[in-house]
Amino acid sequence: MPTYEYECKGCGFHFEKSQSITAEPIKTCPECKKNKVVRLIGSGSGFIFKGSGFYATDYRKGSAPAPSSCPSAGSKPSCSGCPGSPK
Ligand SMILES: [Zn+2]
Repeated sequence: MPTYEYECKGCGFHFEKSQSITAEPIKTCPECKKNKVVRLIGSGSGFIFKGSGFYATDYRKGSAPAPSSCPSAGSKPSCSGCPGSPK
């Protein structure tokens, strides 16, 4: 369960709260009881998808490029996905 950081724009109170992903964001400040709480994004929760990083991780999980889609098959040994490349 991710931990979200909240800050009250009314009194400046700062707090964290563990919530399920589907839970509604907290709006009411536990200190001043005003609906001025905002959720702080990107600090400490470790739950942020970082565009390129997410792509790279996903790509590494996949298999090597299919031989039929490799443009350097049989010509360049640098392509490890080619069946004709030496190992
Ligand atoms: Zn407050």
